[in-house]
Amino acid sequence: MRIKDNVAARLRELGAELRRDVSLAEQTSLGIGGTTDELLLGHYDSIPAVMRLLADEKIAHRFLGGGTNVLVADGDLPWIVLHLPHAQPGMRVEGNAAYVDASADLGGMVTFCAKHDLGGMEGLIGVPGSVGGALRMNAGAYGTQIGPHVREVELYRAATGKMETLRGSDIRFDYRHTSFAPDDVMLRVKLELPSKPFKEVLAGIRVCNEKRRSSQPLNQKSAGCIFKNPTGGSAGRMIDELGLKGHRVGDAMVSDRHANFFVNTGQARCSDMLQLMDEVRERVRRAYGIELETEVIVWQN
Ligand SMILES: Cc1cc2nc3c(=O)[nH]c(=O)nc-3n(C[C@H](O)[C@H](O)[C@H](O)COP(=O)(O)OP(=O)(O)OC[C@H]3O[C@@H](n4cnc5c(N)ncnc54)[C@H](O)[C@@H]3O)c2cc1C
Repeated sequence: MRIKDNVAARLRELGAELRRDVSLAEQTSLGIGGTTDELLLGHYDSIPAVMRLLADEKIAHRFLGGGTNVLVADGDLPWIVLHLPHAQPGMRVEGNAAYVDASADLGGMVTFCAKHDLGGMEGLIGVPGSVGGALRMNAGAYGTQIGPHVREVELYRAATGKMETLRGSDIRFDYRHTSFAPDDVMLRVKLELPSKPFKEVLAGIRVCNEKRRSSQPLNQKSAGCIFKNPTGGSAGRMIDELGLKGHRVGDAMVSDRHANFFVNTGQARCSDMLQLMDEVRERVRRAYGIELETEVIVWQN
């Protein structure tokens, strides 16, 4: 989608930066996605006015964080992507509370807190992407999830057109699912973390890094786990037991290192990845009677 020049000029006046014809294949960890205009939001205070203008002009939009959990359609996309400003996201610590901008890198936040002798999030160290994406997805790994540490989230709520602050206890954080509205834009979070000496946090971080390196295809293009684990089971184990590692559609392939990671080995298209997901889901359904639920967020036209 191309924003009209007169609207682009008004967006610039509001401090938003417009980039034309951006390839989302270059902005996503899967390396898949078509092209569209990209809007870098300016100062948080201007966000309600920008969002109102987009609504008035009926400009469809999607919010992109680090792009590590999305599978995007190919071709000319009928919506634009919005980004929070990336330059020097704020992070500060006061006692056991950490205040972090949603555009901050999640791993960077874990190490920043560690340096202030705050732990509890070691498991999240290798989860790529932004703090905003981690909040939306309730990112988790190795027994840790971000949700239980959240005390407050400042967000822009499209339903009211206002900035709001939600208490952590009013947000539901489930397994890779949260109660945020689909069009909420997370801006900042306050976390409460247990005190832990830096050296101990670092030791935990090293263990988690090693576990990841030994089991995941980290040098290939992926979005992490493609399916959620069913209650009490492991999607990866079932796919592996069916001998599907290495199974491919075009350049989309079930990783031969971790069966729940689907990788783009070259020029995979969104349709290749979706077909691969369908084929694997069908094989698991037939063999185990289980319907696998998609973890990756699919953005089709
Ligand atoms: C190698 C690899 C390993 C991974 N391992 C894990 C793992 O162990 N555990 C895990 O949970 N995930 C894992 N993931 C998936 C992914 O990293 C997480 O889901 C991550 O939290 C997504 O963050 P992101 O900023 O990249 O979000 P994006 O992919 O950009 O977006 C994901 C969703 O969040 C929304 N979103 C992003 N930012 C905001 C915001 N500020 N406000 C509102 N909505 C927003 C988007 O609209 C979209 O719906 C892995 C991915 C890769 C590539």
